[in-house]
Amino acid sequence: MDLSQPSSWRLFSVFCGVAPMASAAVLWFGEIMSAVPLRNNKAVAAAARTVTVLGATGSIGDSTMDLLRGARGRYSVEALTANTNVEGLAKLAREFGARFAAIADPARLGELKDALAGTDIECGAGESAIIEAAARPADWVMAAVSGAAGLKPALAAVDRGATVALANKECLVCAGDFFMQRAAKAGACILPADSEHNALFQALSSGNREELVRVIITASGGPFRTWAPADIERATLEQALKHPNWSMGQKITIDSATMMNKGLEIIEASFLFDVPADRIGVLIHPQSLVHSMVEFRDGSIVAQMARNDMRFPILYALAYPDRLEAPFGRLSLAGQRLEFDEPDLRRYPAIGIAREALREGGAAPAVLNAANEVAVEAFLAGKIRFTRIVPVGVETRSSIGSRPAPRTVAEAREIDAEARRIAGECVERWTGVTA
Ligand code: NDP
Repeated sequence: MDLSQPSSWRLFSVFCGVAPMASAAVLWFGEIMSAVPLRNNKAVAAAARTVTVLGATGSIGDSTMDLLRGARGRYSVEALTANTNVEGLAKLAREFGARFAAIADPARLGELKDALAGTDIECGAGESAIIEAAARPADWVMAAVSGAAGLKPALAAVDRGATVALANKECLVCAGDFFMQRAAKAGACILPADSEHNALFQALSSGNREELVRVIITASGGPFRTWAPADIERATLEQALKHPNWSMGQKITIDSATMMNKGLEIIEASFLFDVPADRIGVLIHPQSLVHSMVEFRDGSIVAQMARNDMRFPILYALAYPDRLEAPFGRLSLAGQRLEFDEPDLRRYPAIGIAREALREGGAAPAVLNAANEVAVEAFLAGKIRFTRIVPVGVETRSSIGSRPAPRTVAEAREIDAEARRIAGECVERWTGVTA
């Protein structure tokens, strides 16, 4: 990629192109910044929007439903999905009058039907039902299924040219090339819902592509930022789950403790914004108020700030291209102290390992992601120690070696399955090993 080239049509079309909101296109970097506030297209923003939430019962799903609850009349719910949580799904489907509810576990269809008895909500079960939910004609889709299982449903939304708020980072980490290509081809509008990428998205519109020097992703440093290495060796699950700033699902909270989350975010940013690894910096920012920054060639650094609450980036994506009133408080800067430090790569090896995987390219990010999922699951199940999580990724990568990038969902699944098998063997070897 040549950043000196003016304007990136690929980015412009993926984010704002022939999507349903094309007429309200934000001036994306690559296009000239105009004094005319083209964002201000009230005609589009005022129209009621239909929304679908994939992973409605999870942490991101919960924040999304909370925002929808506060903006009744502005949005109507087309479809909601969950994995096994029938009760939570049925409750939400009833509350929001969803047209369709899908549960991934096929064995729970009867339970879901019973829970929705007396309503006219259609329901389905199994992966095909989750894909059907994504394919139904909602204007806006929140892609918040956790893990690699989120890829196929997100693609179903992308392929019909929907506006997709992308929380599921695995879509990009496991299949970044073809995911973004399919989005561009279908004219889908991808809005980053992850707080860091959402911040970058907002900051990037301050300049042109050829003016970009680098993007800087911030990281809280997690619960072990100030711990001695020997203490981290003995870290318990409870300690690792105690994130200092964010309330999130278990998997991503553990990833924040190892900083693999930051590593995956580097990969995610590279695919989203078409920026190479060496132009993506990371800074430890313990207050988590600056969510990320962009540096331009005139030395300006544009940062996005908000309280550390995932509802902010989700609200931005939900209201895009407008901004809605945040119903849950605002950031007051008076009295705040903001610190920024370079990450210590010995304390956080995951950052370097993810960067290497991005540089190597091909299937390397997908392999690292799958191995990390297996390792985190093993840690959550009490099988391996905290400090074994990252080595599972390293070992799996070196066993598999270099492979081409997946070009289809089937290829992505194949490489994912192989990495999981090898990571599983690694976990078995280290299960119960305390030294
Ligand atoms: P959670 O584990 O809290 O929720 C995951 C959701 O996906 C649940 O609704 C779950 O259903 C559903 N789900 C899980 N597995 C499957 C499956 N195989 N098929 C269909 N549905 C499934 O995750 P989070 O909300 O924390 O994260 C979701 C995604 O967003 C992840 O990719 C994460 O990395 C990303 N993200 C999360 C952030 C956060 O603050 N939480 C921040 C930025 C990104 P059920 O409830 O039935 O298990």
